[in-house]
Amino acid sequence: MSGADYLVRLNPEQRAAVEAVDGPLLVLAGAGTGKTRVLTTRFAHILLQGKAYPSQVLAVTFTNKAAREMRERVSAILGQPAEGLWLGTFHALAARMLRRHAEQVGLSSNFTILDADDQMRLLKQVMDAARIDTKRWPANGLMAVIQRWKDRGLEPTAVTPAEDSDYAGGRATELYVAYQDRLKALNAADFGDLLLHVVTLLRNNADILADYHRRFRYILVDEYQDTNLVQYYWLRLLAQGHRNICCVGDDDQSIYSWRGAEIENILRFEKDFPGATIVRLESNYRSTKPILAAASGLIAHNAGRLGKTLRAGRNDADGDKVRVVSMWDSVEEARMVGERIEAARRAGTSLSEIAILVRAGFLNRSFEERLIAIGVPYRIVGGARFYERAEIRDAMAYFRVVAQPADDLAFERIVNLPKRGLGDTAMASMHAIARAESIPLALAAARALETGAIKNARARAALSELMQGFDRWRAILPVQGHVVMAQTLLDESGYTAMWQQDKSPEAPGRLENLKELVSAMADYESLAAFLEHVALVMENDEAAEGERVSLMTLHGAKGLEFDMVFLPGWEEGVFPSRRSVDEGGDKGLEEERRLAYVGITRARRVAVISHAANRMVYGNWQSQLPSRFLDELPAEQVQREGAAQREARPQASVFAGGGLFAQRPRRMIEAGAWEVKERPAASSVFVVGERVFHQKFGYGRVLAVEEDRLDIAFEKAGEKRLLDRFVEKS
Ligand code: ATP
Ligand code: MG
Repeated sequence: MSGADYLVRLNPEQRAAVEAVDGPLLVLAGAGTGKTRVLTTRFAHILLQGKAYPSQVLAVTFTNKAAREMRERVSAILGQPAEGLWLGTFHALAARMLRRHAEQVGLSSNFTILDADDQMRLLKQVMDAARIDTKRWPANGLMAVIQRWKDRGLEPTAVTPAEDSDYAGGRATELYVAYQDRLKALNAADFGDLLLHVVTLLRNNADILADYHRRFRYILVDEYQDTNLVQYYWLRLLAQGHRNICCVGDDDQSIYSWRGAEIENILRFEKDFPGATIVRLESNYRSTKPILAAASGLIAHNAGRLGKTLRAGRNDADGDKVRVVSMWDSVEEARMVGERIEAARRAGTSLSEIAILVRAGFLNRSFEERLIAIGVPYRIVGGARFYERAEIRDAMAYFRVVAQPADDLAFERIVNLPKRGLGDTAMASMHAIARAESIPLALAAARALETGAIKNARARAALSELMQGFDRWRAILPVQGHVVMAQTLLDESGYTAMWQQDKSPEAPGRLENLKELVSAMADYESLAAFLEHVALVMENDEAAEGERVSLMTLHGAKGLEFDMVFLPGWEEGVFPSRRSVDEGGDKGLEEERRLAYVGITRARRVAVISHAANRMVYGNWQSQLPSRFLDELPAEQVQREGAAQREARPQASVFAGGGLFAQRPRRMIEAGAWEVKERPAASSVFVVGERVFHQKFGYGRVLAVEEDRLDIAFEKAGEKRLLDRFVEKS
């Protein structure tokens, strides 16, 4: 595209927002009204009008993906690759600036950026040194306090009594000072520091600030509603000179208050930049009328909104109602989503136009499994696939050693995890024996214990305990089955405890994933069958590039759009999430509702919301109530499907063991055929001649049916007799 053609693709309000390049401008508008399009076009317009060189525009996006897209769109409008841009996330741009002036804040330019794990370790050290009881005051609590100060732009000296915290017996600021000192000594910065340091540096060095005023003639900010205070200060400092700052946002899509985002920044903008032009966009070009009306009806339940009009602006805005599908359980929900994706694909929808958006990452697992089973390629956006996560790989390594003691790779991975004091020396003796006698490591470990080859008493005791553990866990298999084995192993090996004691922000998620892993195992006949399944899943990962369904969290979906969007798990406690409501009260609930609004408004043509009456949550079958958000959707925009029975799955006696899985009903563990019998009969009835699919054996045809047993002739694997709950209709 060249010349002013690009302006033709805008409506008059959008065009005004693009052409008013000088002076402060705030675009405040609902989802899909073209805010990002305005920002991108404005960027190109500034360049094409000769107002600035590419390197003289500062453009802030919320994700790296959004930055990439903006770069591509600007290049397309310019007709050539855009080079030398200051375009990226707040963190990326701040890190780049900080490297140029690191000495000013006591760092050198090659400083390291700490991840959350390192941060937590360092804080723990600082607290230990100050003799703080970290059992009473865990380090993650202090981390949250410090993070909040950093989000609000407060250096230790700037924390006023009003902002102070009584954490750690009122010693939080003192610890903050010590922590910042340690970071400097290590030539390191945490994520919060990136912006904090840059703001400090710009405040204290008028010459550097003046330099940036000359450099950045124009500033562009997307998703402005999710900026926090320190980000705002940074923008305000940089925009002070020329005041050419354009921010676009939507108060109804503010979903990061837990990360310190402040919706008040919208009000601050009007105050700090008096005379700012405010543009409102009211035509939504993304979604059909029913989708838009459903989302608007939902968000109307929030109080204290700035208030906006939103109307359908697409020429083809008529469309299907939003589907709300009730399912019996989460297994059927995943199957339903899979079937609809297959149908859409047959009808010509590209897989890249389909997304499944979940409230929390662990919900992805059942959809991943289902998509793999039916051969639909997918990608997890913004996270690792379930079976690639470190904690899952660790647990799987334990299980592999149980199943196959000669699995050296697996054994090596877990022999000293959690740390058991098996140092290099102990490992070297085991390896030496294994090599000399050509035996597996696990066997060499046993041999080393017998022969006294490991000298260190602590290492010897730990290894001996581990080896006895493996004997015990293996013995559980034939008696109580692989699910009990897995629970016992994770608890007794100390692996669960390792994550329970870990105070990093990732630890709770890892524990959730471990529970989800054990839930997944219950679907398989045996440990061997499960291990094989996972091996196949991993192999599937190599699948060719190309069109894929996107799986991601609602938070990760901000700013994106798809033809067809699935929104599963709309159940009380899941969405709205229990934690947000418990901790955040009405505010927490409103933020969850905004998240729901973000979710629905990602859809162009089709939105399918679903909930299940029974869900395996943290290893327990729980009966689930439909989300209150479902009742808040305007009835005339919604078509309800599938009446789920409201009765819960039976909760039998509570599992007697302790630890992570204490609440698990025994009945589930001993799972006989009840799981199938309790489902509507239609899903478990097979007839002779029917084509079926099995995870391991592939496709086949039913030869004979005897109660819940099927004789099946598999195309590749030959004839087998199986329980019907392990095959699916194909
Ligand atoms: P969100 O709030 O979700 O970030 P947004 O306001 O940034 O949404 P965009 O992503 O810029 O909206 O635009 C939504 C969709 O509408 C995009 O597909 C965009 O290309 C299209 N669009 C925007 N403006 C117009 C227009 N004037 N004519 C036709 N299509 C448009
Ligand atoms: Mg946008």
